[in-house]
Amino acid sequence: MKLSERITHLTGDSDGWDVFYRARRMLSEGHAVTELTIGEHDVRTDPSILHAMALSAREGHTGYAMVPGTDLLRDTVAARVQTRTGVPTTRNNVMITPGGQSALFAAHMAVCDPGDVGLFLDPYYATYPGTIRGAGAVARAVPTAAEDAFQPNADWIDAAANDAVSLLINTPNNPTGVVYSRQSLEAIAEVCQRRDLWLISDEVYDTQVWEGEHLSPRVLQGMADRTLVVGSMSKSHAMTGSRCGWIVGPEEVIDHLINLATHTTYGVPGFIQDASSFALTAGPELEEKIAAPFRLRRSLAMDILQAQSTVGLVPAQGAMYLMLDVRKTGLSGEDFANALLDTHTIAVMPGESFGSAAAGHIRVAMTVEDERFASALTTLCSFAEQLAQRHAAE
Ligand code: PMP
Repeated sequence: MKLSERITHLTGDSDGWDVFYRARRMLSEGHAVTELTIGEHDVRTDPSILHAMALSAREGHTGYAMVPGTDLLRDTVAARVQTRTGVPTTRNNVMITPGGQSALFAAHMAVCDPGDVGLFLDPYYATYPGTIRGAGAVARAVPTAAEDAFQPNADWIDAAANDAVSLLINTPNNPTGVVYSRQSLEAIAEVCQRRDLWLISDEVYDTQVWEGEHLSPRVLQGMADRTLVVGSMSKSHAMTGSRCGWIVGPEEVIDHLINLATHTTYGVPGFIQDASSFALTAGPELEEKIAAPFRLRRSLAMDILQAQSTVGLVPAQGAMYLMLDVRKTGLSGEDFANALLDTHTIAVMPGESFGSAAAGHIRVAMTVEDERFASALTTLCSFAEQLAQRHAAE
């Protein structure tokens, strides 16, 4: 039987995830692999959040919940967004979704017609092109340059904007760890207005900022009417498995998105939403507790990287990743990652798995316990040093 083009062409030919799958296989065969691959916290959801979840479930919040989200969680998210950004926001600007991923898909469904072009920036979070294609649109990558520390280039976005209806950005950024500057975001806002683009702003790492400040582009002049912000409980509250996120945008878009949710997800479990409301109002200490291990490991990493000159560090300003430049070894990111896994059983993601703009780089997730993390990074650096010496002698 024939399957739809949409489903069979969702992902491209090369996914660059071989190292990841190989590491998983080695682990299952009993090898002691240090996994610095995916963005999953090494702590589980906080007991206080689980308590709120269990209480809500026991009180009977296990039936169908309101499709747009409970009033309580929509109000909580709206108040949080308004406090953090100053942009007036009510529950009518908010729809709760099963995680940020579902919000990314819904946002593209809301603004792209079949055949429209949806822009996204390379390097990118792995699901982006497939999400845009899943909504029926053509996914077009716009590179950012290692030489610009992967800050977006508004001229390049402008040059790619013919037939485009939307631009998807992500700050703090996965995979680069870069936080977009005000200057970058103002230039993006100008292009979006001039080329009449929707801006889909993925801000799921907004509580993980180590340097500088997170700026939501929805605050910029003229942007609230054309920006859809994607948020999530996954990273801020170590609730990846709970599948709870949201879209914040103009009321008219939210109305249509509620209609889409009625015909697709039918909402998010009530006890998960109650736990999320609890977590979002529990105060900054809880969020800081979840962000703290990454903050500490980032500073351990800075010390290790500053003591050598082979591996370059893309400014590690936010999120739970480091993007490292290994071009001095003469290897591609993929070859370096494979060699590191074979020689030292340390698994990292090749930059190439996030698009061609990150070639010659690797992404290191700061998701193992401090001492093991520091030791793995030290090993990685001396391995790179050996390879670079060999390369220089060739
Ligand atoms: N956006 C980015 C940039 C991510 O890294 C992730 C998860 N790794 C998501 C969105 C989706 O997260 P979730 O669906 O768990 O909210």
